[in-house]
Amino acid sequence: MSWQINRRALLSTLGLVPLMGLTPVRTQAQVVIVGGGFGGAIAARQLKRLMPEAEIILVEPNRTYTACPFSNLVVAGRRDMTAQTFSYETLDKEGVMLVHERAVDVNPDAQTVMLSDGIAIPYDRLILSPGVDMRWGALEGYDQAAAERLPHAWKAGAQTVLLRDQLNALEDGELVVMTVPPAPYRCPPGPYERASLIAHYLKTQKPRSKLLILDGKDSFSKMPLFQEAWAEHYPDHLEWRSASNDGRVSRVDAPAMTVSTDFEDIQAAVINVIPPQKAGAIADAAGVSDATGWCPIDPLTFESRLQPNIHVIGDATIAAPMPKSAFSANLQGKLCAMAIVQMLADQTPEPTVLANTCYSYTTPEEAVSIVGVYSNRNDQFSNVDGAGGLSPLAAPLSVRQAEARQAESWFKAVTAEAFG
Ligand code: FAD
Repeated sequence: MSWQINRRALLSTLGLVPLMGLTPVRTQAQVVIVGGGFGGAIAARQLKRLMPEAEIILVEPNRTYTACPFSNLVVAGRRDMTAQTFSYETLDKEGVMLVHERAVDVNPDAQTVMLSDGIAIPYDRLILSPGVDMRWGALEGYDQAAAERLPHAWKAGAQTVLLRDQLNALEDGELVVMTVPPAPYRCPPGPYERASLIAHYLKTQKPRSKLLILDGKDSFSKMPLFQEAWAEHYPDHLEWRSASNDGRVSRVDAPAMTVSTDFEDIQAAVINVIPPQKAGAIADAAGVSDATGWCPIDPLTFESRLQPNIHVIGDATIAAPMPKSAFSANLQGKLCAMAIVQMLADQTPEPTVLANTCYSYTTPEEAVSIVGVYSNRNDQFSNVDGAGGLSPLAAPLSVRQAEARQAESWFKAVTAEAFG
């Protein structure tokens, strides 16, 4: 693959407006965004609003985006996949240039992104928002082929439907197993929301069946709230086994439909493996991920600590204590866009306060939430002391139902912001 590129020829291939000479002027800077998910889509829209004359190019292989939040309701048969699917039409109308190809490489020296069709796109600034990839093989026996039998459903789409269909086909009385990796992974409370909704499905549709959660951790997000809900709703349909109680899974065997811990081989009819994860592969190609598999960034600008002019947002980043959530990716996308505009104008972004709210369903009609408030001062992300918190324990049904309605409003708002 050659990195020799003729900037003028490439711009005309992509149908871009002609630039003055070979070097773009600042107002016509070219920003390329890789990944049109919660982080990338909002960053692209925000940049186009803030710099109408700039070329904002969104590289995303898929013609529609399938959202993970609320996909646990699909798994449990309470929601249709069409409600999870969003088009890029609004971005197109707003002047964001959509390139439906996969980015396969990045050359930080030449400042180009190489696409799967062989075209290289130059950038002045690049934003990577590729989400996560599975670490195939990190859990013995779990590779892409095994995922067709033991779905992860941790990227929404065909995997979500596969897990739903397997639950539908389950015989009453058969066992369901879910494995959860150690942190960090996409959506810390997501496995426990899914567990709640699967347990609800079993209780109402297959009452002699049970879900066993094998966890790589001893504690988890919103733990007291989930455990309260499980004790109330699912005492006979859900069992959680912590890492120190032989919950850590050492291998899976897809043909045999077994999951092995240190002391036991467990056979089940449906096995949902949520595997260890890392930043999307393009982060490795760009040289912005470190030995952890995630991307260290400057908390003010989201610029990579490893490569200049490349910014990383969303799940791919190391931004703890901010969780890997759509809420975080949305906020990071907006802040990153503003930082790029300021940097292009030779200004320095100021520290600010960031927040995250994550809702989780405990039944199809009830939800609980966690709020976090963070600072990006002093070259790090940190919790703002005394801010944020959890839904109250022992709350009346009306509070849980109100939170479920708030969750729906949040989903509508965040998807409208990203996709219009
Ligand atoms: P994504 O949204 O995954 O977007 C990445 C995009 O990049 C994809 O469209 C992909 O096609 C594209 N891409 C990847 N590689 C390339 C490449 N090489 N070239 C071009 N494009 C590429 N978060 C919440 O806030 N609230 C919730 O209730 C919630 N529930 C969840 C439930 C489940 C079951 C799961 C799995 C996740 C949930 N999340 C939730 C987390 C949320 O989905 C992610 O945090 C969010 O999607 C991260 O956004 P992102 O932009 O980093 O990545």
